[in-house]
Amino acid sequence: MEKMLNKADLAAWMGKLDSHRLFSPALEDEDVWNYMPVDDAAKVQLNHPNTVRPPKGFVFPQREVLYEYSQVPGEAPVLNETLPDPAPAVVFGVRPCDSRGLVRQDIVFTKEYEDPYYHGRRAKVIYVGQACNAPPSANCFCMSVGGSPSAEDGLDVLMTELDGKYHVKALTPRGADLLAKGGDLFKDAQSSDKAAVEKAHAQAKAHPQRPIKDLGKVAGALKANFDSPAWDEMAKACIGCGICTFLCPTCHCFDISDEVKCSSPCKGERVRTWDTCQFPDFTMHTSGHNPRETLGSRLRQRVCHKFLYFVENHDTQQCTGCGRCVSLCPVGIDIVSVVERLGQP
Ligand code: SF4
Ligand code: SF4
Repeated sequence: MEKMLNKADLAAWMGKLDSHRLFSPALEDEDVWNYMPVDDAAKVQLNHPNTVRPPKGFVFPQREVLYEYSQVPGEAPVLNETLPDPAPAVVFGVRPCDSRGLVRQDIVFTKEYEDPYYHGRRAKVIYVGQACNAPPSANCFCMSVGGSPSAEDGLDVLMTELDGKYHVKALTPRGADLLAKGGDLFKDAQSSDKAAVEKAHAQAKAHPQRPIKDLGKVAGALKANFDSPAWDEMAKACIGCGICTFLCPTCHCFDISDEVKCSSPCKGERVRTWDTCQFPDFTMHTSGHNPRETLGSRLRQRVCHKFLYFVENHDTQQCTGCGRCVSLCPVGIDIVSVVERLGQP
């Protein structure tokens, strides 16, 4: 279903979605865009650069309670599972690299085992994408990892800005429902509109991006270079902050721990929090042995997980080329340069 919406009617459409919580990118601080609740739809701008935080937090929050526990001395422990049941939400302005990141999260959390916490949120969040039509940032490389500025994977709706209008394409039944709620605000896209959107998508794809040569050979080359001393050399500046993974739309590692609220009577919560392979204690064994003791071994794990292990297990890279880990690493460690050096035959 392809429709047209006047830009001036975006706020009116949002106004008709009042049974949902609405989020869109907003300027949180100087140059820092992040997803925020929509308080005033008239102020929503969908011509934003990508957000600092990816939209994975809507379905895989940084911290979530899995269950509460309590025990009165002499009695059996009581567990209270806290499965999420959030009000439905619509997230506007999702860039295609980030929606492709959600597809990777879906693989991890639903392919072999359906994680009820992830699933409970995912079922309630509708993602409305925004095709990129401005020149990409210096570190974008979505097309080098199989994506594009107008990729549709993981989205319910894809919007493309044209002259004074949006081309709005429903990609799933719930996306179509969202458009139906807009009623007369939407007009059917005509053949001239479809030609205009194809042209806009082609122009966006023509902007140069950082290349990765021979993507199909990267996994084999990384395997061949597993013991290269270059891992240590390239990781030397790493301060182990974890930004490259916490802000990655595809990273999904977590820790589970108990937070004791009261010791007598015993009462607390079991919580799941984001964790990262870039922390030295991520793989620390109880014995004190750490199989990834060095900075180089941790950089190798991050890069190989994305360009080797995930490819072997799921036939796709676990990187969508959003460029955040390159732009936001405080010491300039650059995954594309690492792949160029150690992922080429
Ligand atoms: S590895 Fe880096 S460029 Fe790739 S998706 Fe994650 S943050 Fe983006
Ligand atoms: S963002 Fe940079 S410094 Fe921080 S853990 Fe990642 S590679 Fe290391």
